[in-house]
Amino acid sequence: MTAKQRAAHRARLLRLRAGVAAADPARIEPNRKDPASTGVADEDAQALSEMLQVLASQRNRGQADLLARIDRALARLAAAPEDFGLCEECEEPIPPRRLQVMPWAVLCAGCQARLEPRLGAPRRKITDYR
Ligand SMILES: [Zn+2]
Repeated sequence: MTAKQRAAHRARLLRLRAGVAAADPARIEPNRKDPASTGVADEDAQALSEMLQVLASQRNRGQADLLARIDRALARLAAAPEDFGLCEECEEPIPPRRLQVMPWAVLCAGCQARLEPRLGAPRRKITDYR
């Protein structure tokens, strides 16, 4: 991943973080794409939609968990920029498509399924993100 790509990811994570922090989980409407109502640009609509689905579908891991994940990704980006985009577990590159949908991802789909089997499985097949 180039420095430019990392900078773009950082900016995106910061925008998404602001979106999560401002979101009221009780009033979230998944798949809403109107930037005026979400405060998020079109390019982030897919990630926002995914994010809102996570918030809406997870009772025990919600907004705070997602904020923690975003902060973790930002911290990693700051501390070890060369490692950003690599799976923390197997150190293989995380597929760009997965990072696009889940910019906060620090594990590849395989390792996440192995380490966090509860996460993601109920709402979508994890293999969708390979
Ligand atoms: Zn991995």
